[in-house]
Amino acid sequence: MKIKDLKIYVLKSALAEPFAFSQGWVHQRSATLVEIITDEGITGWGESFAQGLEPPEISAAVIDHALRPIVIGANPLDVEVLWHSMYHQTRDYGRKGSVIAGISAVDIALWDIVGKTFNVPIWRLLGGRFRDQVQPYATGFYRIHGKGEAGRLAEEALQHYEAGFSMMKIKLGFGVDDDIHCMTAIGKAIQGKSIRLMIDTNHAYGRADALRLGRALEEHDLLWYEEPVVPEDIGGYVEMREKLSMPIAGGENEHTIYGFRDLLSAGAVDIAQPDIGSCGGISAARHIIALAQSMGVRVNPHVWGSAVAQAASLHVIAAVPVAHHSIFASDPVLEYDRSSHPFRKDLVAEPLTLSNGWIPIQDKPGLGIEINREIIARYNTR
Ligand code: CA
Repeated sequence: MKIKDLKIYVLKSALAEPFAFSQGWVHQRSATLVEIITDEGITGWGESFAQGLEPPEISAAVIDHALRPIVIGANPLDVEVLWHSMYHQTRDYGRKGSVIAGISAVDIALWDIVGKTFNVPIWRLLGGRFRDQVQPYATGFYRIHGKGEAGRLAEEALQHYEAGFSMMKIKLGFGVDDDIHCMTAIGKAIQGKSIRLMIDTNHAYGRADALRLGRALEEHDLLWYEEPVVPEDIGGYVEMREKLSMPIAGGENEHTIYGFRDLLSAGAVDIAQPDIGSCGGISAARHIIALAQSMGVRVNPHVWGSAVAQAASLHVIAAVPVAHHSIFASDPVLEYDRSSHPFRKDLVAEPLTLSNGWIPIQDKPGLGIEINREIIARYNTR
């Protein structure tokens, strides 16, 4: 079998109402998708994670100009070999960011092809699944105005709860006082309900403010505190872990086994959060999971992409071993972005749905998704 062609799609959809996370205002949702076509008629799909403010054209250009010449004519079953070829041949200008996001998309598509070729789901190729369903947590709580939205966010928490979510992640990083005010309002609204919270500042603060926020929120018994400081400040992560009681999470802006080696060997996080569309794909996630396992660090993939990225993430989550075994060990959970995103609901024939508050892991070959080509045609800008 040979790779015959590679099609790249840059999907964009304007948001009816722009929203903010701590790093800026998001006006549109976008996705960089790749479709790899083989000479035997099997095709595979992959996605580069486009960060909220990242132009999706960057990883599209990487795939087109740098990766296409490497994979055309190759056997798509040589997934690990091709991962190293792509990494080595882009090293001098790659290693992080959109270049690795480009590699991620190609790698995910290759795993999809391997699964379809052998008629098994990707989790089977990864060695089997440790779980047949995953509990999702609601990601939302974006801002419409920026500050002073505590009341609306408290109502939003109740909406997620009514939709079946018992875990939710609050977007903070809009000023420590405003953050504390929002958390107090949310805490009051959910009092007496069986809800656990995480927080995510998207590295809005330096160490002093990040610590002040964490200390003020100790009473919320948070499941984790995500990206408290910038990804470059590994020492800051270590300091958060030493001085705060909640687990510290990070890694959505880190890449490959090399990046995670630096993060984990410093003791920077309790929970590593590689994004499958950004860390180097399923192959890199596999490397990172083995590394984290050796250091006793939990892995909980991050996902904010389209239905393709969600599917890839689910297969990896199914195959992640628990870091600390016991009969009631804590399993990884699925990040479920509750904001408006047509590339999630409409892009595939069967979008993810909650069943009693859980997401079942399905058994179809490869990624197990059927792409709706009308949606590709409608939103493709390339
Ligand atoms: Ca995050």
